[in-house]
Amino acid sequence: MTRVYVARHPTDAHLFKGILEAQGIEALVRGEALFGARGEAPVTFDTLPSVWVMDDDDVDRARALADEYAKGDTAAEPRPTWRCAACREVVEGQFSECWQCGATRP
Ligand SMILES: [Zn+2]
Repeated sequence: MTRVYVARHPTDAHLFKGILEAQGIEALVRGEALFGARGEAPVTFDTLPSVWVMDDDDVDRARALADEYAKGDTAAEPRPTWRCAACREVVEGQFSECWQCGATRP
């Protein structure tokens, strides 16, 4: 089983899982339970919901779809990176909270 996509929130993860399934790729969403605990747990990419592909033969195709999906998303809604006021980490524009310390976007 291989992780092919890290989502911003559970809805995003399920949306992409649906795209994979429409292509006949068996996929799974993991990390949803951790998403609710983000306030307490250290926030890393491992605590965001992610989409996993069951069959390793599908990984290349799934990664290509993930690239396309992410591109389409940013094209529709461009978001610049921002710097966290609390820990000064540079955070990608699609995140509304700092992935390093969990502080909300200013
Ligand atoms: Zn921070």
